[in-house]
Amino acid sequence: MITPEQLKEVLEQSVINLRFHARGGQGGVTASNLCVEAFYGYGVCQPKFGAERMGSPTESYVRLSANVDLVRNNEQVYAPHIVAVLDPSLLGEIDVVAGLAPGGWLIVNTVLDQISLQTVVNRKDINIATIDALNIAMDVLGRNITNTIILGAILRVIPIFSMDALANAIMSRFKGSIAAKNVEAIKRAHEETCIFETGGAPELDFSVDTKVPWQQVSLGLPGYKELDDAGVWYCDEDVIEIGSNQVNTGSWGEWDILWDEEICTDCAQCWYICPDFAIIREKGEDGLWHMKGIDQYHCKSCQNCLEICPVDAISKRLKQGPAACAVPEDQEGGN
Ligand code: SF4
Ligand code: SF4
Repeated sequence: MITPEQLKEVLEQSVINLRFHARGGQGGVTASNLCVEAFYGYGVCQPKFGAERMGSPTESYVRLSANVDLVRNNEQVYAPHIVAVLDPSLLGEIDVVAGLAPGGWLIVNTVLDQISLQTVVNRKDINIATIDALNIAMDVLGRNITNTIILGAILRVIPIFSMDALANAIMSRFKGSIAAKNVEAIKRAHEETCIFETGGAPELDFSVDTKVPWQQVSLGLPGYKELDDAGVWYCDEDVIEIGSNQVNTGSWGEWDILWDEEICTDCAQCWYICPDFAIIREKGEDGLWHMKGIDQYHCKSCQNCLEICPVDAISKRLKQGPAACAVPEDQEGGN
């Protein structure tokens, strides 16, 4: 791995590009801000939000260099050297390694081991680091906020800042015990991160920024100039489905939400409060509506129903199992 001295030399002439993938509310933008604040040279960061709401995929981009003229670019990062993924469920939804330079690093909050991850992302020419950030977050912070924790993992693979500089940036950003807990969390992340240099990956070339668009979304809808009336879209069925009906919001959360039919009193408070219409009710033979369960495809684990239920008929269970941090024994290169 590159030493701090070697990296300083490289960054006199080059830029290091990072891309953070997170979900709305997980603090991906804060992580990229802290990255710039802790860096010894010059840096910029830009967030990119879509139709933002809690749990939806977000991205943020960071450029770092020792040369101020090299970080004036404000467009999104298309060819990152480092990709950090704060939420493991994004692996199934987003091509997180798109544009990632050969020899670059993919850093993921996951309980998968690095060999399994290589298969998931289908890349053999990159290095992979994993951290069970959710476990650390729940242990140290008491909630699933993994943004500072992923920075401890980044520091483990590339010395873009020192642990002291990162701790100082966190102490400036947060207050009191929250700041202290976040510092404790990054130190633990730095120790517990599992790294895997494939041996097959080429040396990382910091001079390359290919500007390849990494994500293009097509809904198959007509362009603005093809519309008869502004703002109106037509299709064969006359209706274009929108919103949660088309989106698997059930993949957004880290909890399975469980309902206990025996305890439920059918008060319907959970049905009123659910933002994704994920509480299923059916009309019974008595002519009244009764709760029938939770639509897991759309339940995004916001826990509103759990908090409002007056009889504790709703509970939660972590989707993730225990971490599998080690590289399998028959593989070389991990530690
Ligand atoms: S946790 Fe409850 S309120 Fe939130 S989306 Fe799931 S069912 Fe709806
Ligand atoms: S809030 Fe609780 S008791 Fe009321 S319908 Fe929902 S699960 Fe049943």
